Amino acid sequence: MFNRFVTWVLPAVPKIIVHKVARRYIAGDALDDALATLESLSHKGFGTTVDILGEDTVELGQARVAASQYVELIEALAERGLERNVSLKLTQLGIRIDESRAFDELKRILDAAAQNDTFVRIDMEDATLTDKTFEFYRRAREIWPRVGTVVQSRLRRTVDDVAQLASEGADLRLCKGIYKESRENAYQGREEIRESFLESARLLMDAPRARVGLATHDLPLVERLRWEIEKRPGARDRLEFQALLGVPIRSGLERLREEGFEVRLYVPYGPEWYAYSVRRLKENPDMAGAIAKSLFKRDRL
Ligand SMILES: Cc1cc2nc3c(=O)[nH]c(=O)nc-3n(C[C@H](O)[C@H](O)[C@H](O)COP(=O)(O)OP(=O)(O)OC[C@H]3O[C@@H](n4cnc5c(N)ncnc54)[C@H](O)[C@@H]3O)c2cc1C
Repeated sequence: MFNRFVTWVLPAVPKIIVHKVARRYIAGDALDDALATLESLSHKGFGTTVDILGEDTVELGQARVAASQYVELIEALAERGLERNVSLKLTQLGIRIDESRAFDELKRILDAAAQNDTFVRIDMEDATLTDKTFEFYRRAREIWPRVGTVVQSRLRRTVDDVAQLASEGADLRLCKGIYKESRENAYQGREEIRESFLESARLLMDAPRARVGLATHDLPLVERLRWEIEKRPGARDRLEFQALLGVPIRSGLERLREEGFEVRLYVPYGPEWYAYSVRRLKENPDMAGAIAKSLFKRDRL
C-alpha cells in the first residue's frame, strides 16, 4: 500500500527534492566523496563495501566506462589504505546486451582486484538473472578466488541454491531481495521470507568452508539470527552483519558491534543515484514525512 503510494507520488516530486531526501543513502556523486565517507566509517569501526551506482546499461561503451571506474576505485582504495571490498552489478557491465563482452569487463575488474587484493561481490538482480549471475560468479572465482555473490531469501529456489553454494565454500551475502517477483518464483509473505532467510543462514553457518554476510535491517529477524548464532559459536568468525548506508538502525548496529560482530556498510556513490534512491525510499515508511519536511522546512534536512 505504502509502496503503491510512493510509486504514484515520486515521479511528481522534483528530482532536487528526491536528492535531498535520498542523500543519506549515497556517499555522493564522485569517487572523492566515497573515499571521504569510507574514511569516516572506517574510523567508526565499520567494515565497508563500495558500489558505483548504475544498472541496466544499454550500450557497451557505458559498460566499459563502468568497468574502468571500478578499476580506478580499486586502485584508489589500495592507495589510501582503505578496506578493499567492492560490490557491482552485472547489468552495469552489459550482461543483458552481450554476455561475452560483459564477462570481459568483469575480468578487467577481477585483474585489478587480484593485483590489489580486493574482495569483489557480485550483487544479485532480478530472477531472470539468477542463473547467469551464479554462472558468472563461478567463472570469476576461477580467475580470482576472493569473489562472492548474493542470494535472496524471497526466491523459492534459494534454500536449494544455498545448499549447493555452501558446499562449494562460497562467500554469500544473504538478503531478502529487493525485486518484485512472481508468486510462482517467490514467497510473498513477510514471515515466509524470514523463514527462508533463517533456513539459508543455518545452512551457511553449518557449512565449515562457507562465509555469510547477513544483510537485513529487520531487527526481529536479527534477534532470531542471533539466537541461531548462539547455538553455533564456531560459526561466528565466518559471518558478519551488513546494512545499507543511511538506513536508520544505528542502535541496532551498535549493539551488534558491542557483541563483537563485524558490521559492514554498503556504500553507494555516483551520479546514477536516482533509481537506487527511489528503491530505498520505497522501503522507508518515513519517506512521505521526509519529503514534506524538505519541501517546507529546507533547513531541517
Ligand atoms: C548490505 C545490503 C546489500 C544488499 N544487496 C542486495 C542485492 O544484491 N540484491 C537485492 O535484491 N537486494 C539487496 N539488498 C536489499 C535487500 O534485499 C532488502 O530489500 C532490503 O534490505 C530490505 O529488507 P530488510 O531485510 O531490511 O527487511 P524489511 O522488512 O524490508 O525492513 C526491515 C525494517 O527496516 C526498515 N527499512 C528497510 N529499508 C529501509 C530504508 N531504505 N530506509 C529506511 N528504513 C528501511 C523497514 O522500514 C523496516 O522497518 C541488500 C541489502 C543490504 C542491507
